[in-house]
Amino acid sequence: MIFDEEINQTIRYLKPSGIRKFFDIAATRKGVISLGVGEPDFITPWHIREEAINAIEKGKTFYTGNRGLLKLREGICNYYQRRFGIAYDPEENVIVTVGGSEAIDLVLRTIIQPGDEVILPTPAYVAYAAIIEMAGAKVAEVELKEEDDFKLTPEALRSVLHPHTKAVILNFPGNPTGGVMTREDYEKIVPILKESGIFAVTDEIYAELTYEQKHCSIAEFEEIKDRVIVINGFSKAYSMTGYRMGYILAHKELIDMILKIHQYTIMCATTPCQYAAIEAVNNGDKDIGEMFIGFKQRRNYVVKELNRIGLQTHMPQGAFYVFPSIQCTGMTSEEFCETLLEEQNLALVPGNAFGEAGEGFVRLSYAYSLDELKEALRRLELFLKDHR
Ligand code: PMP
Repeated sequence: MIFDEEINQTIRYLKPSGIRKFFDIAATRKGVISLGVGEPDFITPWHIREEAINAIEKGKTFYTGNRGLLKLREGICNYYQRRFGIAYDPEENVIVTVGGSEAIDLVLRTIIQPGDEVILPTPAYVAYAAIIEMAGAKVAEVELKEEDDFKLTPEALRSVLHPHTKAVILNFPGNPTGGVMTREDYEKIVPILKESGIFAVTDEIYAELTYEQKHCSIAEFEEIKDRVIVINGFSKAYSMTGYRMGYILAHKELIDMILKIHQYTIMCATTPCQYAAIEAVNNGDKDIGEMFIGFKQRRNYVVKELNRIGLQTHMPQGAFYVFPSIQCTGMTSEEFCETLLEEQNLALVPGNAFGEAGEGFVRLSYAYSLDELKEALRRLELFLKDHR
């Protein structure tokens, strides 16, 4: 490297995403089927797209206020009240961000101070650990176990709590495991959070994809609500990944602090996309319902097939991922994915990309057409015949 010492050393030693590395290889090959990307395959519903077009046509192309359009913040608060029964004030408790991604970064940079630790239940979405480290805190991983349905248990939470703990990341339904926390599950950890006084950063981007029961947000628990910071967005629920729309819901004082970073680094989320998002939150419940049916059908199909071809697979309760164990092959997650790509032109994500606790698993996204899923499973079956 010509630039070495001059580079910020945290960035210099930050590991590139294990997902990207793999898909860069896959992109150079012909005929590859990839179940790697966590992105719904539906095109954004037309009435939502139309609002972005209308905004551009009508010249609504200027900056908005830093917090985002009031109509959008009102829509978001109505949505949280309507879908999850939680009250937030559009003037005080909301900030519209560039995807859930910006939201994660803003929240962590706002609360983290040098010497802090952030509890990260793993396997976890790849961005959290990197952002925690970039914000200057230490990641305290705690393993989510398959035998616990990948839930965060009170014992696990207690085992990593520390005087320096600043926050815990909660992502239920979870990427990559599809794990879900019910109200009863939260009831067991809320007293621990209350007693310790740490923040609960809850990324609810998959809230609309819970298959067995309605999503429960930890923000429902009034006794800790002041220290709950909700992250959500439009990418998954309305199939709007490219619009880059997300938001944060939190106590007024936190939002005011978070706003300082957003104001200086981003200013505001893209204006035409904010108009599209207003249409989505106000009139998109039906679209959510239709996509949900499609995802549930695919989940059931994929899990049944995986178990039939001999990959023992936990039935995920949410999101659009399955996380089968590949231990029967005796390979590491990376060996499995590399050989599968080499021999069958099928790209999956090695579980260890989501933390050490993901070793021995692979992640498969079923946000693909049934035809692609069928072909992928056919290739996987052939592969397993040779490698068990
Ligand atoms: N959180 C989780 C758990 C995710 O899986 C993703 C996207 N894969 C995001 C946040 C970020 O999504 P976006 O920035 O598109 O809102």
